Amino acid sequence: MKAAVYEGPRTVTVKDVPDAKIEHPCDIIVQITTTNICGSDLHMYEGRTSFEPGRTLGHENLGKVVEVGSAVRKVKVGQYVVLPFNIACGFCKQCERGLTNYCLTMQPEPSAAGAAYGFADMGPYQGGQAEYLRVPYGDFNALRLGEDAEERQLDYVMLADIFPTGYHATEMAGVKPGDQTVIFGAGPVGLMAAYSAVLRGAGRVWSVDFHSDRLRKAEEIGAIPIDIREQDPSDVVKSATLGLGADNGCECVGYQAHDPQGREDASMTMNGLIDCVRFTGAIGVVGVFVPEDPGGKDVQGELEAQGKVPIDFGKLWFKGQRIGTGQAPVKRYNRMLRDLIAGGKAEPSWVVSHELGLDEAPSGYEHFDRRDEGWTKVVLHPDG
Ligand code: NAD
Ligand code: ZN
Repeated sequence: MKAAVYEGPRTVTVKDVPDAKIEHPCDIIVQITTTNICGSDLHMYEGRTSFEPGRTLGHENLGKVVEVGSAVRKVKVGQYVVLPFNIACGFCKQCERGLTNYCLTMQPEPSAAGAAYGFADMGPYQGGQAEYLRVPYGDFNALRLGEDAEERQLDYVMLADIFPTGYHATEMAGVKPGDQTVIFGAGPVGLMAAYSAVLRGAGRVWSVDFHSDRLRKAEEIGAIPIDIREQDPSDVVKSATLGLGADNGCECVGYQAHDPQGREDASMTMNGLIDCVRFTGAIGVVGVFVPEDPGGKDVQGELEAQGKVPIDFGKLWFKGQRIGTGQAPVKRYNRMLRDLIAGGKAEPSWVVSHELGLDEAPSGYEHFDRRDEGWTKVVLHPDG
């Protein structure tokens, strides 16, 4: 079968790889029809991780079930399913608590942050930027879709990651009706966090970035854009809130944040949020920060910048703010968000800028990695 394979820093090729096959009675095989490129893929694409050359990328996957293992009871051949990026067993202590993002059975080692398809340090599982994908514990890890699945794939595929992840950021930040909410990052995740804040009834949502095309996208859903090249987010937010600050905020950038001059500055967004959010407000951090040495591997000297981020903890404490962090437990939100889509109340596909064939994956990666004008969210269709 064909797959988009990581070959080394900034090199992805589409080539033949061994077919996905049932390896365990609980597995299912999904023919992938829609699979997204994510900002998280770029950590691997840019060579910042220990992701092994030769592995298939892709953790935002949707498709049709073509085979089920002998122990599979719920999922049937022919059904359309979307696959939360977290791979989980459903029966470990963490899964029982709803923390499928930190499943003890599927993660490669106790120090890992869960398991995922096509991901560095999150287990050996192949990605879904391919014709077919093996899904472990298919009954648990596949969310079945309704009859509108085929024509609304672009909406439903966002359930694999960025819609629930954006929603999780607003959940950790405690966004309530009427709240004033500031979102750092207007990439796909930040746009979904802004969208989630709007869906939750926030009174005012600011979207902070320095890519004007992405900020224009945020404006489409009623967010107020703040371009850090022109305005200080804290000045804008405080002058609109009698100096108090936003009720809450979301971090949707991660360690690869840049300052207005284009230099990497991993602490900018957290310090910006601590400043913008009011006393006793909350901050949800879904942008990725990784420890200096995940899994005992030293990777190209990049990890120090990713892990040790000098945030103003004194100011955070002084303001009595709360922070939530980590991978999103996608499954927690997936049925609810699926049913908002099915009921016509949410259409997350507005974030998509490009639909490409699998063969065009290398060019999709190049454009998205450069954050080229207008390349907001790239979707691949392995079935042509
Ligand atoms: P992206 O890189 O396309 O978007 C990041 C955006 O942040 C860009 O538009 C960039 O211009 C902007 N930005 C950079 N510096 C900034 C600054 N100082 N202030 C404001 N904005 C700034 O990626 P994405 O797909 O939107 O993902 C964002 C982050 O979320 C990544 O770290 C990704 O790995 C992470 N992520 C986390 C989870 C999770 O479960 N926690 C899931 C998916 C993605
Ligand atoms: Zn993703």
